[in-house]
Amino acid sequence: MEAPTRELLWGIGKSLPYYVHYALFLIATLIFLAGVYRWYRILKIARNDEDRLDNLGKRIWYTIRDGFLFVRLYFRESQMGLMHILILWGFIVLTIGTLILTVAADINSSFFRGTFYLIHEALMDLAGLALLLGLIIAVVNRYSTKPSRFSKAWPYAKDDGAVLLLLLTITVLGFAVEAIRIASGTPAYTAIIGEAIAKLLPYDLGLYRTLWSVHSLLALLFIALIPYTKLAHVIAAPLNILTRSERGAAARTVEDEEYLGAIEPGDLQWRDILSSLACMRCGRCQDMCPASNSGTTLSPMFLMQNLRKTLNENFDMLGRPKKEDVLLLDNVLDMEAVWACTTCRACMEMCPIYIEQMEIIGEMRRGIVESGEAPPDIRDFLTNVQKQKNPWGEAKYKRDAWAKDLDVPRTKDSEFEWLWWVGCGHAFDNRNKIVAKKLVRILNEIGVSYAILGREEGCCGNDVRRVGEEGLFQVLKEENVAAFEKYGVEKLFATSPHCYNTFRNEYENVEAKFILEIIYDAIKDGRLKLKHPVNRRVTFHDPCYLGRYNGMYELPREILKAIPGIELVEMERNRDRAFCCGGGGGNLVREYPGDDRPNNIRAREAGDTGADVLAVACPFCMIMLEDGVKMEKLDDRMAVMDVIELVYESAFGPEEEEQ
Ligand code: SF4
Ligand code: SF4
Repeated sequence: MEAPTRELLWGIGKSLPYYVHYALFLIATLIFLAGVYRWYRILKIARNDEDRLDNLGKRIWYTIRDGFLFVRLYFRESQMGLMHILILWGFIVLTIGTLILTVAADINSSFFRGTFYLIHEALMDLAGLALLLGLIIAVVNRYSTKPSRFSKAWPYAKDDGAVLLLLLTITVLGFAVEAIRIASGTPAYTAIIGEAIAKLLPYDLGLYRTLWSVHSLLALLFIALIPYTKLAHVIAAPLNILTRSERGAAARTVEDEEYLGAIEPGDLQWRDILSSLACMRCGRCQDMCPASNSGTTLSPMFLMQNLRKTLNENFDMLGRPKKEDVLLLDNVLDMEAVWACTTCRACMEMCPIYIEQMEIIGEMRRGIVESGEAPPDIRDFLTNVQKQKNPWGEAKYKRDAWAKDLDVPRTKDSEFEWLWWVGCGHAFDNRNKIVAKKLVRILNEIGVSYAILGREEGCCGNDVRRVGEEGLFQVLKEENVAAFEKYGVEKLFATSPHCYNTFRNEYENVEAKFILEIIYDAIKDGRLKLKHPVNRRVTFHDPCYLGRYNGMYELPREILKAIPGIELVEMERNRDRAFCCGGGGGNLVREYPGDDRPNNIRAREAGDTGADVLAVACPFCMIMLEDGVKMEKLDDRMAVMDVIELVYESAFGPEEEEQ
């Protein structure tokens, strides 16, 4: 018995359409390569000062994991993860299968029979089905389910629907061509889907040839369009994952002293330009962005799309600049958008392909600050920090006034193990001073050996760096390091996640902990007894600089769960999806633009849980959310309290709490 196989180029043969097809294939490939070359040249205008290819083995692993198996996406949105797996793997198998067919038809067909042939036909059928299913899910999702992330479309998006339609047409025509061939009497063998469709289609050689030609032409069009449309993400997205940052929570640093921030596209990293091609306009970043949700002009998705559009418009088809002085400001983001960013990191956390929108904004801020064009409120903020070491411009000699009547040890006159870095929020803001005072009693109870710098404490520089004043950050850091050296500080704990973040990730030679870690250890080993029930329904707001920046999601919850009587309820958006309070990146001291402020939105989300306490773990969140709760008129039924205050109430009882 003859091994199963089939006639290659059935119904077409090596006729004129076949040779035309080859000529067009060559043209499509040349157009594709020209587009790739153009973007390669554009990429070369940008900076190359961060090693994006170190630890290559690890990089390849997470590219496979997140770029080809969509694990990151699958665990967040299983349906979307599945959709991408179906589309990508359907596409990959069909492409490889088509290459095999080409080799068999034009070079050597001896291998294309028997078991190999049967597997090939079965896999091609399954891959086609997978691709079709994936595309149907994509269409339903985009045009019927319409998740909120699609609610604000980039105004220049023209090819979303066209790309889906093109792929759908290619896939459907592929099945139709196969089915007509089978309908002619060619054995289907393992091509069971083609066989099923063949029952619905007539055998018509003319129709077959027409559909074969259209199918081939559209497939070639697809190849040619990749670098010029949204389809670029097919190639750019895996490369973007491969070159993701290994910096962790630390901000981008540029060691070249002549670097004055990002003013033109060439001031960005080449990887940012690659990211603009990789962005597939999924809207996940925008959906979680407090600035977008507040109705400001900032959208991290628009940022990436505008960057690509700006480059497209200002470089010719060979990748040569058409004109000098193309500015990022007003082309990719306007002034309001640049300063509306709260540096909450939600965009970067949500982006399935690790785009660094927030870092681009940070570099643009630096460019604006270095040019002396920062808005007046940002200039005031920086002047206040520079002169008084706090964002409000409170006299720096008042920094330790909160501890006046308390027995709080100072570094200058005591032995200590830990430096307590109090931070501006707890030192100067009246509401947060109450928290600091309660913490003193807790620290004394658990017997921590600590001291504060008092008036010698400065500003940690976290938010100064986030508004782009790198020079001032370096000055503050030098001053703080000098103070640490003066008093032999090797370990510190911070009461603000902002300070904790910069000490942990951007300072050297000092071990930084967050205060809740100290408290949690004391609860665990019995030094702090939580005796009194706190009969409250509590929802916890994750501070961005604790959660998304430093991955500390569970520890505050563990503390709350350890307090007897507390019923912990979650807001719909929690942990890595927590919605920012709006106080980061300099916005604590600014009049926030937009028609619905982030703290109001978050207060409503907390109110929706029915909680009577909105628990925070950050002085900035305390300020922002107390304001939001009042503005939303929720303050008669929901209090904003620091986790430290709830611990205090449980440790020392409500009577003492009231004193
Ligand atoms: S860091 Fe936050 S505020 Fe800034 S663009 Fe990203 S999501 Fe928006
Ligand atoms: S930047 Fe990332 S999350 Fe935002 S739209 Fe593009 S791909 Fe999606």
